[in-house]
Amino acid sequence: MKIDYLIVGAGFAGSVLAERIASQLNKKVLVVEKRHHIGGNAYDEFDEYGVLVHRYGPHIFHTNSKGVFDYLSKYTEWIPYEHKVMARLGDELYPIPINKLTINKLFNKNFRTEKEVLEFYDSLKEKRYPIENSEDVIVNQVGYELFEKFFKYYTKKQWNLFPNELSPSVCGRIPVRTNEDCRYFTDKYQYMPKYGYTKMFENILSNKNIEVALETDYKNIMNDIKFDKMIYTGPIDYFFDYEFGKLPYRSIDFKLEHHHLESYQEPAVVNFVDPDINFTRVTEYKKLTQQQTKNTTISKEFSSDSGEPFYSIPNEQNRRLFKEYYRLTSKIPNVLFCGRLAEYQYYNMDQVVAKSLKVFMEISKK
Ligand code: FAD
Ligand code: UDP
Repeated sequence: MKIDYLIVGAGFAGSVLAERIASQLNKKVLVVEKRHHIGGNAYDEFDEYGVLVHRYGPHIFHTNSKGVFDYLSKYTEWIPYEHKVMARLGDELYPIPINKLTINKLFNKNFRTEKEVLEFYDSLKEKRYPIENSEDVIVNQVGYELFEKFFKYYTKKQWNLFPNELSPSVCGRIPVRTNEDCRYFTDKYQYMPKYGYTKMFENILSNKNIEVALETDYKNIMNDIKFDKMIYTGPIDYFFDYEFGKLPYRSIDFKLEHHHLESYQEPAVVNFVDPDINFTRVTEYKKLTQQQTKNTTISKEFSSDSGEPFYSIPNEQNRRLFKEYYRLTSKIPNVLFCGRLAEYQYYNMDQVVAKSLKVFMEISKK
C-alpha cells in the first residue's frame, strides 16, 4: 500500500493535520489509531443509560483564537457554555478560582470592593522571588493558608508530587480573582460541540483522501506500507523505544457512576481539595453538555502512574529528558512530531489545534 502521509493518532493533532493535508494538498492520508475510537482524549459517547459522557474526563472548549474557533466551526455547531467549578473543602463548597465570594465565605468577611480583596490578599501573601515552582506562584499571590487549603493536597493527589516539585505553569493555570467572576475560564469563545466531540471528529476526518485504521499500533504496520512522510502524535519516548528511559506521564482512572437522580451536584465539576478523599474531582456530564435526561452519570477521577498517558508532568528534570528525545527528531526530517504527547506539553485542545494549523502552514510552504 502506498500513501503520502502516515499519521499516528486520531486526536486533535492527528485529525486536524489529516484534514488539512487531505483537503488542501490533495494527498492520501492514512491515520492509524491504537484505541478503538477517534477523538483521542476528547472522545465522547452515549453510555448504556443514554447519557453523553466524556470517556477521558471533562472537556470544555475555550479559546481566544478566532482562527481556531472558525476552523472547528466548519465541523460542528456549538452550544454556549461557561464552565464553573466549586472546590469542596470540609463540608462546604467554594468558588474556584479563588475570588471575592470564596474569601468572604471562608473568612467570614463582607468585602464589597475589589480593592478590599486585593488588600486582603496583600496581607496574606508571602513574597516569593524568583517564582520557581507551583507553590511559589500561589503563595506569592494569596499566602500559604489559601495555598494549603485549595492547592497543596489536590495537586499531590493529581500528580503524586507537591506543588513545589512542579513547574509554576501547573498551578499557574488557575488565576486568583478580586471580583465575583466564578467562571473557570475567561476566554472569548467558550462552547461545547452541539452533537459532541466524536461527531465533530467524524466530520473532520470525512475527507475522501483520509482512511482511518483503528485498534492499530503504527509499529505493527510500518513495514507493510509505503509513505513519504509521517506525523507522529503519540508519546515521544515510545517512538524512540525508550532509548533514554521512560518519560513520566500521569494517568487517571475514571470511575463512572449512574444515579437515579435528576441532578447529582449543583456545579458541573467539584474539585475535592482535602487530602483524606482519594479522588480529585467529580464531573456531572449533563451539566456540561446540557443534555436533558431524567437520570445522571458522573465520573470520579483517581490519578495514577500507570495506564493511558494523559498528562506530561511539567518539571525541570522531565523537561531535560524530553529535550534529549527531541534532539533525536532532527535526524529524521520526514517525521513531524505534534501534540500533547509528542511534544510533552500540557496543551489544551485549542492550543493543539493552533499548533497543528501552524505545522500545516509549514508543510504547505515546502
Ligand atoms: P491525544 O488526544 O492524546 O491523541 C493522541 C492519540 O494518539 C491518542 O488517541 C492515542 O491513542 C494515539 N496513539 C498514541 N500512541 C499510538 C500508537 N503507537 N499507535 C497508534 N496510535 C497511537 N483541553 C481543553 O481544552 N479543555 C478541557 O477541558 C480539557 N480537559 C481535559 C481533561 C483531561 C482529563 C485530559 C486528560 C485532558 C484535557 N484536555 C482539555 C486536554 C485535551 O485532551 C488535549 O489537549 C487534546 O486532546 C490533545 O490532543 P492530541 O491529539 O495532542 O493528543
Ligand atoms: N489545582 C488545584 N486545586 C484546584 C484546581 C487546580 O490544586 O482546585 C491545581 C492542580 O495541580 C491542577 C492544576 O492546578 O492539576 C491545573 O488545574 P486544571 O483544572 O487546569 O487541571 P486539568 O483540568 O488540566 O486537569
